[in-house]
Amino acid sequence: MKVFKFGGASVKDAASVQNMCKIISAHKEDRLVIVVSAMGKMTNAFESVLAKSIDEEPIDAPIQAIQDYHNEIIKSLGLSSQQDLLQDLDEIYEQLIHGLNGYSSSFGYDFVYDQTVSLAEVISTKIVAAYLNKEGLPTEWVDARKVVKTNNTHRQAMVDWGATQAMIKSQVLPLTEEKIVLTQGFIGSNAKYNTTTLGREGSDFSAAIFATSLSADSVTIWKDVPGVLNADPKKFENTKLYDRLPYKEAAEMTYYGASVIHPKTIKPLAQKGIPLYVRSFQDMESTGTVIEECLIPNLNPAIIHKDNQTVISFKISDFSFINETHIHTIFDHIKRLNLSINLMQNSAISFTICMDDNPKKREQLRTALMEEFNIYYNEGLEMITVKNYNQETINELMRGKQVIIEQRSRNNFQMVYKTAENPA
Ligand code: ASP
Ligand code: MG
Repeated sequence: MKVFKFGGASVKDAASVQNMCKIISAHKEDRLVIVVSAMGKMTNAFESVLAKSIDEEPIDAPIQAIQDYHNEIIKSLGLSSQQDLLQDLDEIYEQLIHGLNGYSSSFGYDFVYDQTVSLAEVISTKIVAAYLNKEGLPTEWVDARKVVKTNNTHRQAMVDWGATQAMIKSQVLPLTEEKIVLTQGFIGSNAKYNTTTLGREGSDFSAAIFATSLSADSVTIWKDVPGVLNADPKKFENTKLYDRLPYKEAAEMTYYGASVIHPKTIKPLAQKGIPLYVRSFQDMESTGTVIEECLIPNLNPAIIHKDNQTVISFKISDFSFINETHIHTIFDHIKRLNLSINLMQNSAISFTICMDDNPKKREQLRTALMEEFNIYYNEGLEMITVKNYNQETINELMRGKQVIIEQRSRNNFQMVYKTAENPA
């Protein structure tokens, strides 16, 4: 059995859905479970409709643009006369409007977010399922909210693995014998069957949930890049493709901010030894990258860039030195504020951290610690991590940059630097 995942870019318009159908058709001899996320940038669109409905009270045609976008795809795919599909979508739009209008602060933003934004995935998979069936690929639409069970943490739900595996095994596995199974990424439900979501870009993780529950032979994420590259091609030139990557290496790359795969995806697959393929949906012939248990000597350096970084330094003012008690105090507040640290460094009289820009929490941290320390901060910085670095790569990356912090271990190099004022 194979699990395929198609993200928003691979179903952003009718031509993309047709292309996806071609890929599926080429694998129709396999038992397939397909995870599809919202079309194009629909998750963002749903988020902004929700934001508007909260700010502006009921708005007249809040979801017209969303409906138009999907209708255009439905029309181009030749699905306009499919009454079942249109009726299903009408009901979903009704639920959406109900959710948007029903927002009251007593439910809480995160709860309403999950009940409404999740519907983008439901709409997308309804359309794709109808199209695959029309094209002669018998497909069963499965509601991920019925089988992916989570806790109550809306927008960042934690999977209840025991319940989820039992549900997927009993409800989904039998369906794969006869048909292609098509389901949603990103969404699930809590014990009360209220919809929950797994965090933005969570569909990769959903694919891993289905694959481990079904003991699949592999997972393939079909993307708009040729596989896992050693740097983001939107930011760096001359990127190189990895043919193979060990699980550990791929997981660490996501930790440092590589966005090619959702960070939670690797661990469950590694635990079960299920290989993860990352392949291009534009070039079905190329094999992309396989992430699996392997040992690869001399991996190409991986370069991971993050912008919007803040560096905060805590300095002792009274000629004493930074000690464990100071660091303990600082960490207590970092933990309390739920901050995560991208890099840290200490010297005799100061302790420095780098984190994602977050002015509100930075101020809370400063207020909490200003009596004990002199605090300095610098916002809007950038950070680069190089895994498996060599000196040549570092020299090239550092050229012309005003580096504020630099750090290296045996395998990793990291630097925080000022954004160039006028790159042109
Ligand atoms: N549609 C959701 C998002 O954009 C989940 C996903 O695409 O993975 O975050
Ligand atoms: Mg998406």
